[in-house]
Amino acid sequence: MTQLNYDDIRNSRPDLVGQALQVGGQLLQPQGNLDCGEVGPVPVQAIMEAGQRYQALTKGSCAPQLAALVFDVTGDFRALDFYFPIVNSLKHDEAARQDFYNAIHYIGSHPGFDMRVIAEHRQDVTEQTPPAVRAMVGGHLAEVFFYRRDIIERLLSQPRHFLIYTNRAAFDQDGGLAGGDYNFGLEAIQLEMSRLFEGYSGQTPGVAPFLHELGHMLDHFEAETGGMGRCEGILPGMASRDGPVFTPQARQLFIAGKRLEQQRYIAYQHGQAKPNDPVPVGHPYVFQSDGEFIAGFLEMFFRNPNYFAAQNPQLYGAFAELLHQDPRRYWPEDFPFYVTENRKAYLGGQRPSPQHISIPY
Ligand SMILES: [Zn+2]
Repeated sequence: MTQLNYDDIRNSRPDLVGQALQVGGQLLQPQGNLDCGEVGPVPVQAIMEAGQRYQALTKGSCAPQLAALVFDVTGDFRALDFYFPIVNSLKHDEAARQDFYNAIHYIGSHPGFDMRVIAEHRQDVTEQTPPAVRAMVGGHLAEVFFYRRDIIERLLSQPRHFLIYTNRAAFDQDGGLAGGDYNFGLEAIQLEMSRLFEGYSGQTPGVAPFLHELGHMLDHFEAETGGMGRCEGILPGMASRDGPVFTPQARQLFIAGKRLEQQRYIAYQHGQAKPNDPVPVGHPYVFQSDGEFIAGFLEMFFRNPNYFAAQNPQLYGAFAELLHQDPRRYWPEDFPFYVTENRKAYLGGQRPSPQHISIPY
């Protein structure tokens, strides 16, 4: 039997085939172990059972990658490295890497971190939920705020609600909208569990629905009071009233960078762009409102930082200053989808619809 390289298969979704586990094109017998790289050997039987828990809990709606199942079995945070590109920059420094894992654990068990898992008929199944789900939500927060502990402390100073649904029916029954949302009335992110694991089937992470919805939640968060308020299209730390977390350079860069995006967009909207004029970094979708703008760009900051920074250094710099990090260090190459799709939207010959974003002053 050929040796499976764990790093090549951790992003695949194992299948049950008869009494065996199919992963990376091989059938593994339940009596054996799977060599999971740094994490070590893990019983195949236990991985199969971990997968079956999702199957039963979500009625087949959520089938996470091998990496999440290995975490569920072992509790070893290294199993989740694949989900958080920031770890690429921490690998040379064991203490920093451990600090990231500690941050996931800290956030996931913080009293202000109110994550609940809801099944059909609004049944709360948080207790029955495998641990990777909490670690995925906490891990995204740990990644965004790894270098801004002051902002995450402020954010969690009051309960923050993350509602994760076992499947589409559960999501719909609790008022979920579109592919996920920030619910203003519930003050909660609403997202199907399967979407937490979406975008992780390639060799590098792709679309990140949770990061997008987190952008909406952060926009509604008011750092000065610790409560939730209206959408203004900015992140905590970008307003002078945010007190100790206010980051003036981030605000200045955001204003300049957003203005540049708007100017580029308007040129395409009116058909005035010349053949080699730069296109906006964001898809026309993010120009429909200030809320979509901030949510879309937060996601792109963590997924296509190289293109983002090259096209609009000021807007990129706003996020880098605010979050004290530069994701280009984690990504030798961008997740290409957002780059190619967004460019196509402007260069395909059709004029984008009117923009509705505003520039803070
Ligand atoms: Zn949105």
